[in-house]
Amino acid sequence: MPHFEYRRPASISEAFNARENEPDSRFVAGGSDIFLLLKKNIIAPDCLISLRAIEELKGIKQIENRVFIGSGTTIRELEKSELIEKRFPALKDAAINLASPQIRNVATLGGNIVNASPGADTAAPLLIYNAAVIIINAQLIERVVPLTDFFKGPKQVHLQADEIVKGFALEIPPPSSGSTYLKFMKRKAMDLANVGVGVMLDLAENGTCSDIRIGLATVAPTPIRALKTEAFLKGKTPSEATLTQAGEIAAGEISPIDDLRGQAWHKIEVIKTYIKRACRQACARSGK
Ligand SMILES: Cc1cc2nc3c(=O)[nH]c(=O)nc-3n(C[C@H](O)[C@H](O)[C@H](O)COP(=O)(O)OP(=O)(O)OC[C@H]3O[C@@H](n4cnc5c(N)ncnc54)[C@H](O)[C@@H]3O)c2cc1C
Repeated sequence: MPHFEYRRPASISEAFNARENEPDSRFVAGGSDIFLLLKKNIIAPDCLISLRAIEELKGIKQIENRVFIGSGTTIRELEKSELIEKRFPALKDAAINLASPQIRNVATLGGNIVNASPGADTAAPLLIYNAAVIIINAQLIERVVPLTDFFKGPKQVHLQADEIVKGFALEIPPPSSGSTYLKFMKRKAMDLANVGVGVMLDLAENGTCSDIRIGLATVAPTPIRALKTEAFLKGKTPSEATLTQAGEIAAGEISPIDDLRGQAWHKIEVIKTYIKRACRQACARSGK
């Protein structure tokens, strides 16, 4: 591993001061992604600036109809949070299926999103909860970007080197809705998603779909919303035939590639089944 200096600021302003003094530096949260890059000599910054001691980046709190999750919140904290379990069950599903307890104890939500793997497990749930990314710069000016606009490409986000992701604002879905995240893996545990499907669905009194959001992972260069599938399902009863058609539409709006986790044709087949399955599970969770 290359030699590097290590700084552990206690506040966001201290982190920016450290960065000004160390231009060839990288921010690090849990380190579960960045240390792999260091070990493989893919990056070799002079300095790592740890965000772990910064309290402003931690915590989960509800303000009116939104919940703010600090970027430094660990995946384990998401897994254990009653608020997440109650309001954002798809995010809990993602958390309990991400890596191992050891990794989840250090890995953060911010790191998972900024690392921008097309298969990042928390991305699809954040997309279905209409998450916005709260970003702060060295002048301590904040900007807010919808998560849909934050991803740029595989492992790339719209974030400057001297910006920090403060956290995420999630819309609380209607109490009558149900949501879920399903992860298809080659192995039963400790594997990255071959395909990930998040669904938030609300049914009207007459049983038709009044609102639906679908987030997909590992089937495009970035995590995506399946907008055509959502438009198709809106206003329809989620019957077997409708969900089968929805699976076909979703298969048509993805662009998976062959990679270590699976072949493109297989991901397309899995999507067809998983769209159905996730919609059914979201319906069941809505209690309708
Ligand atoms: C064995 C193993 C298994 C894994 N399994 C999974 C899995 O099943 N699913 C999955 O999705 N991921 C998995 N991962 C990947 C990884 O654990 C997650 O992506 C994790 O959430 C990254 O968070 P971190 O805090 O460790 O990020 P770090 O490694 O600290 O940082 C990742 C990137 O984000 C940047 N960054 C972090 N926080 C901020 C911030 N607040 N502002 C600006 N930039 C920031 C860093 O500079 C770096 O570029 C696995 C990793 C390992 C090692």
